[in-house]
Amino acid sequence: AKAEGRNNYRFFLPSMHERVKERKTIEEDLRNALEHDQLELFYQPKVDCLTEQVVGAEALVRWKHPERGMILPGEFISVAEECGLINKLGAWVLREACRQTQIWRENGMPDLRMAVNLSPAQFQDVELVRTVTQTLETTKLPEGTLELEITESILMNNPEKAVSTLKELKKLGVGIAIDDFGTGYSSLNYLKRFPVTSIKIDRSFVNDINVDPDDKAIVDAVIGLGHSLHLDVVAEGVEEVEQLQYLQNKGCDFIQGFLFSKPLPVPVFEKWVKDRNE
Ligand code: C2E
Ligand code: CA
Ligand code: CA
Ligand code: CA
Repeated sequence: AKAEGRNNYRFFLPSMHERVKERKTIEEDLRNALEHDQLELFYQPKVDCLTEQVVGAEALVRWKHPERGMILPGEFISVAEECGLINKLGAWVLREACRQTQIWRENGMPDLRMAVNLSPAQFQDVELVRTVTQTLETTKLPEGTLELEITESILMNNPEKAVSTLKELKKLGVGIAIDDFGTGYSSLNYLKRFPVTSIKIDRSFVNDINVDPDDKAIVDAVIGLGHSLHLDVVAEGVEEVEQLQYLQNKGCDFIQGFLFSKPLPVPVFEKWVKDRNE
């Protein structure tokens, strides 16, 4: 906006002012939310592509706002990132997801893997490895249970640092998934360099898998690439049986999507898993 000159400034002023004010309100509310237990995790099942059994879950944060009702992460994660609350929020999500996983393991639920999303800022945080170590010690989750989902941009910002952080996480038995695969910088080289364990095909490719030859080609290529590098391939955003069938035929490993279930609050998730395994 600066480059457009001084004369334009007044046109930006009101809306910018409002945006800043809005943001400030969200920021204050969010601080408050962290202190007053207004955040809640929903869990979306991850199923084995062939057996269609539940193998894990992804934790997705929700904000139960006292006045505005339930707010989705798309509305507040970026604010949390900008105002420096993301590390606190992220640490809460990590602990809560692991605590819940441990409770499920003790209460006769099938042993599930748990995936937690990490923001780029969290990945830069020097405390990250310590927080993960402590959380795993407290909850005594076995190796291979926790998986962290990161995006391609995290790896490209500071590759050397990223490699060393990922190696430390790997030593702790933590799996690393590349989220939204194919939408970011997509350097195939990093898949070899970084100790990642799975890739998640972005839902934009899965969407038109049966109608768009380009998307089909991309999905086929990603599955092939993943498998030749010994990575698990997860497809997200699967909504239709035809998409599932296509992915099953292509040997995709795991599936997430509304076809099976949307993200669910704890009691509903528990019931869903029990009903499914009967
Ligand atoms: P994501 O990690 O790519 O998570 C998948 C999103 O797609 C979720 O939206 C989920 O509800 C939605 N989804 C799942 N299956 C389907 C489907 O079949 N069709 C469609 N249309 N959508 C589907 P949600 O929960 O609103 O989360 C949005 C994003 O917010 C996440 O995208 C993730 O980037 C971020 N996020 C969520 N929770 C956390 C968190 O605890 N920490 C951080 N850093 N980011 C989070
Ligand atoms: Ca994710
Ligand atoms: Ca994703
Ligand atoms: Ca398309």
